[in-house]
Amino acid sequence: MKPLLFATLVAAMALTVAPSAMSQVDTRWPQHSMDRPKPPVVDPGPERPPVAPPEDAVVLFDGHDLAAWRQQQGGPARWMVRDGSIEVAPGTGDIVTARAFGDCQLHIEWSTPTPASGDGQERGNSGVFLMGLYEVQVLDSYHNVTYADGQAAAVYGQFPPLVNVSRPPGEWQTYDIIFHRPRFDSAGAVTFPARLTVFHNGVLVQDNVALSGPTANQRRPPYHVTPDELPLELQDHGNRVRYREIWVRQIENR
Ligand code: MG
Repeated sequence: MKPLLFATLVAAMALTVAPSAMSQVDTRWPQHSMDRPKPPVVDPGPERPPVAPPEDAVVLFDGHDLAAWRQQQGGPARWMVRDGSIEVAPGTGDIVTARAFGDCQLHIEWSTPTPASGDGQERGNSGVFLMGLYEVQVLDSYHNVTYADGQAAAVYGQFPPLVNVSRPPGEWQTYDIIFHRPRFDSAGAVTFPARLTVFHNGVLVQDNVALSGPTANQRRPPYHVTPDELPLELQDHGNRVRYREIWVRQIENR
């Protein structure tokens, strides 16, 4: 094909792709369907030492204090700092970063309570919310069955992970997340959906997926126009999940 014709075709295709068609959410199963096949279980190998931040990262938790965090409802963060990690203080609510972030690379390590208690969504549930809107699920998914789009490393309610590389409760696990925020035109229409790539314990589990909008329980709300940067949020789901080694690299406007 001649280069000019090819370029014209590509341009025409770009113009005809409606924003609603940009999401890749699989609609063959209802949201949260227990019938949806579960991702294969893959052993990620042994637990690894903490991953220290590179020089240019914004450090959000280095094992000492919650200075970078606030309660979502306002005021100082009330979660616990214990043994070099942050622990959810059930009932206090979600915490958010004081700083806001848009496109970013995020490293975060987490561990669910041991001995495990509860089943399904009630076992070691928390979550990492990019821009406070897009949740990468944190859950004890080690021999714990729940719906595929709600297990560990799912983009909650939208994308199951490609594989289940969960470690046992009590062991440290890692997420390395690449996030691109949505873009909007001047009329508020989505020109570029939010995108997530996630490595769980070093294994690719979300491959540049295009989100349908903010994540939510039992619904898939549409996008609404948001600022280019919003705080990162960690979820209090009532379970004493711990976090450590939280750092972020901004990848926009560098
Ligand atoms: Mg959650």
